[in-house]
Amino acid sequence: MIKLYSSLTEIPMHDHDPFRIPPGHKVDLTRYDPAFKEHHLDKDEGAAETERHTRRLAELQYLLYAEQRRSLLICLQALDAGGKDGTIRHVMGPLNPQGTRVHAFKVPSAEEAAHDFLWRAHRQAPERGEVVIFNRSHYEDVLVARVHELVPKAIWQERFDLINDFERNLNLNGTVILKFFLRISPQEQLRRFKQRLDDPARHWKISAADYEERKHWDAYQKAYEDVLSRTSTDHAPWYVIPSDHKWYRNLAVSRIIADTLEALKMRCPEPSVDIDEIRRQYHEAKNGGAVTSDK
Ligand code: AMP
Ligand code: MG
Repeated sequence: MIKLYSSLTEIPMHDHDPFRIPPGHKVDLTRYDPAFKEHHLDKDEGAAETERHTRRLAELQYLLYAEQRRSLLICLQALDAGGKDGTIRHVMGPLNPQGTRVHAFKVPSAEEAAHDFLWRAHRQAPERGEVVIFNRSHYEDVLVARVHELVPKAIWQERFDLINDFERNLNLNGTVILKFFLRISPQEQLRRFKQRLDDPARHWKISAADYEERKHWDAYQKAYEDVLSRTSTDHAPWYVIPSDHKWYRNLAVSRIIADTLEALKMRCPEPSVDIDEIRRQYHEAKNGGAVTSDK
């Protein structure tokens, strides 16, 4: 039975929502501290709390899968070394791989580039019961495409409304959308690049393009400010996650996702069979039920 929704499902506000961007809010990123953490927490306490949230998440994912009514789409955006991969490993790692999928958005292939910019995102949207993580997303088309002038201004400017319509459509079909901008400082980015240089096991991650992109830092901040100001809605909100401390980033993201899924008040579906009858017929009969013993 397909469940359609005639009105938008809003994501309720939680106790821990200082990072959520209210709709229409004009964002000035310099007011957000990327090294923020809650001062009563240290790294070990933070990790323990993250573990508590990921355990909740695993239980909630089970319900999402069992219910087959809704789906969850998580968009992760960040500059290079911002921590998208680490977030996926730490926050999503404990989930059941059955029912979870990660899709990474790269430079569009020839086939993708031959379609409208939302085509490839729509194809990867979650089906009912599924959790999908976009590692980068359709937002690249108003970020890298703008900063590198891959399309004219008149084109990328139209895309904010198109994205809002797209996400509205997904939401009406039962998809809960959470969008995270993992924000680090330029100093922290350079420190992480240097760590890669110092660790041969991470040399493969280094690209000259990453250093090149640093030159566009300010342009990216501006592009992100517009994204956050124009596409954060009650039903598909953006969160600016302070990400200089990896442990705090993991805590903040896992808590928001778990709180959001919990608020859906999902329940296991009613059984489609008569449980008492099955128990009586197959489990309580003398000589072990309907199947004769092979002894
Ligand atoms: P990475 O995430 O490090 O594997 O790099 C993926 C690269 O693909 C990044 O440099 C993105 O900016 C780039 N990319 C992703 N989507 C697009 C897009 N729509 N147009 C152009 N470049 C893109
Ligand atoms: Mg990269």
